[in-house]
Amino acid sequence: MGCSADELNPRTMRRVRDRGYRNHLGTVSELNIQPAVRPLDNLRLMTIDPALRQLASEIEDGAALPSPRCPDCGVGTVSFAAPTKFETAGMREARKHDAYDPDWEKGTFVMQGVCGAHTCQQVVVATGTWRVDYGTTGGYPESYADQFAVFYRVRQVHPPLRLMELPDDAAVNEALGGIAEGLLTAGAVLFTAPGLAATSLRGCIERFLSNAGISRKTAKDRFRPLDRRLVEWREKDADRDGIADLMLAVKWLGNTGTHEDSVLTAADVLEGARLLDEAFHRLYVSPAITAAAAAINAAEGPVTF
Ligand SMILES: [Zn+2]
Repeated sequence: MGCSADELNPRTMRRVRDRGYRNHLGTVSELNIQPAVRPLDNLRLMTIDPALRQLASEIEDGAALPSPRCPDCGVGTVSFAAPTKFETAGMREARKHDAYDPDWEKGTFVMQGVCGAHTCQQVVVATGTWRVDYGTTGGYPESYADQFAVFYRVRQVHPPLRLMELPDDAAVNEALGGIAEGLLTAGAVLFTAPGLAATSLRGCIERFLSNAGISRKTAKDRFRPLDRRLVEWREKDADRDGIADLMLAVKWLGNTGTHEDSVLTAADVLEGARLLDEAFHRLYVSPAITAAAAAINAAEGPVTF
């Protein structure tokens, strides 16, 4: 299973093979072009940063702030300082109203973080909106106002956070069908426009299929539906059934995101990213793990890689 050499751009694969690229997906061998056994610690899995899920939800004041993986070095994590709240003149005016209640409070905020890796120290800025509502931390409130808490919703992070660990090598990215660009776009608009992010993930599959030799267009130069392209790719190898199902689910999320009245959330997009992550894991990482196990079994003991 996986991509055979003839399904990928030959020029790209030659470059990849000649230079022995090593990235988060492993080497070209793990890409299943030249099956070989590799030490497992060379396999860096594409994983979805759990902090992204925290950032996709409202954060109650006093809760631990998420520590996402650094968008620059990808090694350190970003520690945020407490948010700075801003409010409008209208908000200050509203407090004078007779019927004023704490849950009228709302505004914008900014919080600044820095990567903990000493050699990086990338500054990351998050911004969004805050509102006041009943707190969820429990306990017995000492006053009426004590029942309320501030909730922050992040709308933008800069530099954009990465949805998955990306290869930083253009040749490998090209071999994967340009998914790196699509993932970067999805990460950049994740909190601002989740529908757009889901559409970007769908685009990753379109690009992947094009690079795998599955034509985008019919003989009459019309665009082919993604479903049909996926079926063609699936039928080339029985092992692709489950993988194609994962990609199909990402397609459906992308279709929903494309609609103007889409109610897709950042959490939905992260679910799509998880499915895509699993699809590529099965394609590029699992075969190498299986090969390593087979080598150990054949040797009936440890293997020197
Ligand atoms: Zn960093």
